[in-house]
Amino acid sequence: MKNIVEILSIPFTNTTKKKFIKDEITPRLKQEKKTFIVTANPEIVEYANDHPKYKDIICTADYITPDGIGVILASRWMKEPLQERVSGFDMMKDLFSLADKNGFSVYLLGAEESVIEEAANKVQFEYTNIELAGYHHGYIDINDAGLAKKIARQRPDIVLVALGFPRQEKWIHKHYHLFEKGIFMGVGGSFDVLAGKVKRAPVFWQKANLEWLYRLIQQPARWRRMLMLPRFALKVMIKSKRR
Ligand code: UDP
Repeated sequence: MKNIVEILSIPFTNTTKKKFIKDEITPRLKQEKKTFIVTANPEIVEYANDHPKYKDIICTADYITPDGIGVILASRWMKEPLQERVSGFDMMKDLFSLADKNGFSVYLLGAEESVIEEAANKVQFEYTNIELAGYHHGYIDINDAGLAKKIARQRPDIVLVALGFPRQEKWIHKHYHLFEKGIFMGVGGSFDVLAGKVKRAPVFWQKANLEWLYRLIQQPARWRRMLMLPRFALKVMIKSKRR
């Protein structure tokens, strides 16, 4: 089985969430090895292929994991099946548990002010051992190094960035050099879910691979973004036929 599976020239890490956390992330946290994780869905793959600079940024990541059933289906069509979805939200929860168990410190950056406050409260309430290094809302100038320098001085073990793509990966890439250590991951709208502003799809919907539809029903304004899904599917199909 291949460790890396390329979907439309984006290299995805082929693993399960459990193995990934246990064999890759836990040792890196313990060794204070700086790590950049991108969780990419079909929208990100398409955006990256349309925006070479963004593609270069995400290709500097140590890991790109498949977030979204679309990427998993694409890998099956290519006859190089990725083992499972490794989503940003699920990984965020696992990172909280790891931090809770080991006393790692976490910084939360992103979302609206009221949302991030609520999300930070929830984290402290649910994971009493976590050292919350701090938090900040996400309505910032991503090129301004001031906030990044402030965060770097806290030396957090985990930095979760919820600015939505492509801003979150751009922020991480731009300020990464200021940090000596840390696991950095963009988590999209996860703080909205954590704070209870947006509901995550119930397990039934997740198991039926319909999480995207549940999300669309909750946030109909996202329909425009979904227009690129047929294009993604078509490209993958053409590519798989050519092999
Ligand atoms: N957001 C932010 N700053 C911005 C734009 C967006 O902090 O300048 C936050 C927004 O409040 C939300 C998240 O980023 O919490 C974006 O969520 P979305 O589900 O759209 O993520 P995506 O799917 O785009 O990665």
